[in-house]
Amino acid sequence: MSEATETLALYGGPKAVQTDRGDIIDWPIITHEDEEAVLDVLHRRAMSGTDVTKLFEEEFAAWQGTEYALGFSTGTAALQAAMFGCGVGVGDEIICQSLTYWASCLQVYSLGGTVVFCDVDPDTMCMDPADIEHRITDRTKAIMVVHYVGHPADMDPIMEIARAHDIKVIEDVSHAQGGMYKGQMTGTFGDVAGMSLMSGKSLAVGEAGMMVTNDLEIHERGIALGHYGRFGADIKTPSLQPHVGLPMGGYKYRMHQMSSAMGRVQLKYYDERCVEIQKAMNYFWDLLEDVPGVKAHRPAKDSGSTMGGWYAARGLYRGEELGGLSATKFCQAVTAEGVSCSPGINKPLHLHPLFNTTDVYGHGKPTRIANSDRDLRQPPGSLPVTEDIPKRYYAIPWFKHYDEQIIGEHALAYRKAAENYERLLEDDPGDAEGLGGWHFFDHG
Ligand SMILES: *Cc1c(COP(=O)(O)O)cnc(C)c1O
Repeated sequence: MSEATETLALYGGPKAVQTDRGDIIDWPIITHEDEEAVLDVLHRRAMSGTDVTKLFEEEFAAWQGTEYALGFSTGTAALQAAMFGCGVGVGDEIICQSLTYWASCLQVYSLGGTVVFCDVDPDTMCMDPADIEHRITDRTKAIMVVHYVGHPADMDPIMEIARAHDIKVIEDVSHAQGGMYKGQMTGTFGDVAGMSLMSGKSLAVGEAGMMVTNDLEIHERGIALGHYGRFGADIKTPSLQPHVGLPMGGYKYRMHQMSSAMGRVQLKYYDERCVEIQKAMNYFWDLLEDVPGVKAHRPAKDSGSTMGGWYAARGLYRGEELGGLSATKFCQAVTAEGVSCSPGINKPLHLHPLFNTTDVYGHGKPTRIANSDRDLRQPPGSLPVTEDIPKRYYAIPWFKHYDEQIIGEHALAYRKAAENYERLLEDDPGDAEGLGGWHFFDHG
């Protein structure tokens, strides 16, 4: 053990982090260009217009490599539109992981549908392709794939299963804009993708969302659901034409143009900023490669897959390599070294009353099964890998700039905690039940 790792700060040693962090974790990066773009909208009183949003959509589609991009007020709305676009309706089921932010799936209730949860792969935290097929029924309309906390989901087997059963694939790219799976960008595998662009996400422009697809009918159904001003004579899908003029969903989902103006500027610099983020985050993990108990949450280096903007960065915890040390105690030690670190992540959705007992719309039975002819609810214990996840992950700093000194000190905090695990075991309180939270990604 080297000198620097000898005494944990928790027990009176010097802190690993000594250098001021500066703006290394601040996000999004805001420049005069963002300010000017937003002020232009304000001065033109164009907040509720669509001229800037349409330019943003064009640029976004070109960047994403899809035929269409449609702007929304939130990612929640964009994903609801993606579901509606795929024809999800009364009694239909979508398959989604339970380990995610609620807006990957909860909107399905508003369409009269429901969700069936699948388990995740413990190393990627994305849906386990081996746990999908047996959940498909004749009511399954779509698989909702989440590229969770930046890690690309295993798209090859997922697409194969979906094609074999003739069901749609929706990607939730809220955590992974610009990420690659085997050299291809996330958001371009499924029939449609929806994503959040809210100000905590990796492509961050404020409250906004985007839906991207190559499918004209899905795109136009997205317009039909919540863009009445654009749902007019130029709609080409015959089944939609009789209904133009009013929004079919009864929603108004237009993007605020101060968001789209900022979005145009953020998108212009996004790829180059991601390159620096990846360099910084990979450097952090490279420094910890040989440390027991901690493991990088990232795809293999030569896989052609990447973490994109590395949203809400997490590390894998393997307490069994540290004598069974709890993630809670491990994180306490890291925090004392000067890096705010907590265990846990999104609480599994299937454990919340809204997916078990709550009757939202007065059906006289839980909304989860309101329009189903079977009870598809999933009790505690039914998704074992997912339920174990909160104890096996912890936060790591999300670096936006490459600085070897600062990143090195942060990595040392994790190394010190792991290398001194025997001392930590002496007063380990263990993990409480139910680590993590339903609102983990609220960003205040
Ligand atoms: C943030 C988020 C959303 C919802 O986006 P909003 O813009 O906040 O409505 C959907 N899915 C996931 C996985 C998210 O993290």
